[in-house]
Amino acid sequence: MNETVFLNGEYISKDKAYISPDDRGFYFADGVYEVMRCFKGNLFCFEEHLARLKRSLSEIKLVFKTTDKLGSICNDLIVKNNLEEKYADIYLQITRGVSRRMHSFPKENVPPTIYIVAYERLPYINELKNGIRTITRPDIRWLRCDIKTISLLPNTLMFQEAREKNASECIFIRNGVITEASHSNVMGIKDGIIFTHPDCNLILPGITKKVIFDICRESGITIRENAVREADIYELDELFITSTGDDIMPVVEVDNRPIGNGTPGPLTRKIQSVFFDMTYKELGGENKTWF
Ligand code: PMP
Repeated sequence: MNETVFLNGEYISKDKAYISPDDRGFYFADGVYEVMRCFKGNLFCFEEHLARLKRSLSEIKLVFKTTDKLGSICNDLIVKNNLEEKYADIYLQITRGVSRRMHSFPKENVPPTIYIVAYERLPYINELKNGIRTITRPDIRWLRCDIKTISLLPNTLMFQEAREKNASECIFIRNGVITEASHSNVMGIKDGIIFTHPDCNLILPGITKKVIFDICRESGITIRENAVREADIYELDELFITSTGDDIMPVVEVDNRPIGNGTPGPLTRKIQSVFFDMTYKELGGENKTWF
């Protein structure tokens, strides 16, 4: 698709958007990113994404001075690409700019590279309705998974393994517990209580995870920041993953064994339902015919 994209201060057609091979994103994956959703013109949780982006930039010591302009650029891209009435993804990436390959940072006058693209993407209705199969793998990532860096090779390798096993996500295990998954946070349910790994250097502090915490607080659902032990996975009543891309996605199978009775459970449905009222309005309210 030939969208209008934003690259280094300009709105241009994607087929005219070129990045130097000397970009540090290309050499070192030296950059950070965000993925946001725009529900019919409404940028969802933009302030939370911006706060996380600023933190990621600061943690990798990347100086990017114009974060205050990003909201209006995202909104411009929604308008320029006729997405005001659509469900859209917005991908935003900032790298440490262009300079001859060298491990040390470039000189201070080298500007960062910034790229933003917006495109239509529908929710994964079938999966949201029926749940997904997953696999587990050791969490082979580094010890700063709290930074949303574009260095995602372990995540893509593990996700590919999931795909090859006809599964839709790979759940990571470190020190005998579920940390998170290749592109989502993970929440287990036992006896009406939700369990999830606490925010720390081993997981990404998901924005959707935060929304779930709010939903639980308002709905009187108990949520505990205790990680699910690998040994307890099949004792869970329900399991779901959360992410900007997957929303609230029921997990019905882990490594070819069912969770609960192998279908999305009632508490997952309840949280999905509140979430859809905030996001995909026509899937909420009276119109939840697909549940
Ligand atoms: N963990 C990882 C590793 C991810 O890539 C993502 C998706 N960005 C998440 C968790 C979920 O974060 P969010 O809800 O902000 O999309």
